[in-house]
Amino acid sequence: MPHDKISMLNTAEASQPASVHKAIQNSVAGLNGVKPPVPFDEPIFVAKPALPPLEKVIAQLESIWNSRILSNQGPIHQKLQVELQRVLRAENITLFCNGTLALALGLRALGVQGEIITTPFTFPATPHSVLWNNATPVFCDIDRETLCIDPDQIEALISPRTEGILGVHVYGLPCDVKGIQRIAEARGLKVAYDAAHAFMCELDGQPIGSYGDLTMFSFHATKLFHTVEGGCLVYNDPTLKSRLDLLKNFGIRDEDTVELAGLNAKLNELQSAIGLEMLRVLNRERELRKAIRMRYIESLEGIEGLKCILIPPKVTDSLQYMAIRIDAQRFGLPRDELYTRLKSFNLMTRKYFFPLCTDYAYRNPAATHLPNATKASQEILCLPFYSDLGVEAVERIAAMIRFLQAESRKHHYA
Ligand SMILES: *Cc1c(COP(=O)(O)O)cnc(C)c1O
Repeated sequence: MPHDKISMLNTAEASQPASVHKAIQNSVAGLNGVKPPVPFDEPIFVAKPALPPLEKVIAQLESIWNSRILSNQGPIHQKLQVELQRVLRAENITLFCNGTLALALGLRALGVQGEIITTPFTFPATPHSVLWNNATPVFCDIDRETLCIDPDQIEALISPRTEGILGVHVYGLPCDVKGIQRIAEARGLKVAYDAAHAFMCELDGQPIGSYGDLTMFSFHATKLFHTVEGGCLVYNDPTLKSRLDLLKNFGIRDEDTVELAGLNAKLNELQSAIGLEMLRVLNRERELRKAIRMRYIESLEGIEGLKCILIPPKVTDSLQYMAIRIDAQRFGLPRDELYTRLKSFNLMTRKYFFPLCTDYAYRNPAATHLPNATKASQEILCLPFYSDLGVEAVERIAAMIRFLQAESRKHHYA
């Protein structure tokens, strides 16, 4: 380690408020002489957006300033659309101002109403896109391993009102797309996927967006590929295109025709330009995240009661989240306790997804017995995962987790 780095670490240690330092020291007195890890100087969050070089964005802005085309499917929007079609290997693509509206309008375009069977282990946008279509989300439990909707439990939830299935590829772990397709075909249901976590994910060499009737990707700043805010739908049926274009642009067909009550959900030229430049730094971001993922897996190896959520070999990693699962009994601390204690080291992890969608304020009455989802929401923790984090920070994080486990065991057996 270079000298300046060592002195930086020492300074960090010295700059701890004396009282905090004393308290930590006291709490571990006699812990086989293991010193508590030094907290991070600045809070470390779960995500930090990747950004293209500013000069490149400025050059894009200059061309926008010259053209004075700021929105309404301008040339940069068109270019991004073509490039994303290639990156996602998508037959058809439509861009939106965010992933939530993309999904809500996608369901609208499919015409699904009545009941839509979906997962409770997701971000609120998933069931909300169903509710905004005046449809009812019916929550199905998840598979213990994939953390995605369990096809074996879908069948029992199908009623005469069921019109669709909405799966989520949680952390880029694909749903059992074939199992879902079988049920959908047998029962005449539409299938949509929320692939907000699954950009560039491939299953058995097939792009994840090629499954189902349509798939949503989010380009929010916290996602690996982003346009600050944005999203898209990819789909196999080209006839959806014109309907989606109407739905995202007030339903306006042409100057004289407003065909339906559409919304305004267009992606503008400035954000499209950020997206174009993000595509240029995408591979580098992915490579750096791969190294961070590997270091996490290595340095968390062998911790009793802690499991890294791993992407199966037949799946291309979307590199979106670094999730771990804590078995409270075996680890020695419940997930919530670990979350709180890591905060005292300035490490801000996230409980994705807690609470379950069935526990929101509006309390969906269609909630059934959901043991796997309930358990996952109590055990999962997402650790910081972005290229700037660097592998050294990963090792410090692993040391913090090991220390907290050792400390809790000491108290337990004292
Ligand atoms: C990010 C996210 C969304 C929402 O996407 P926005 O682009 O922010 O609207 C939806 N579903 C999941 C699972 C997400 O993680």
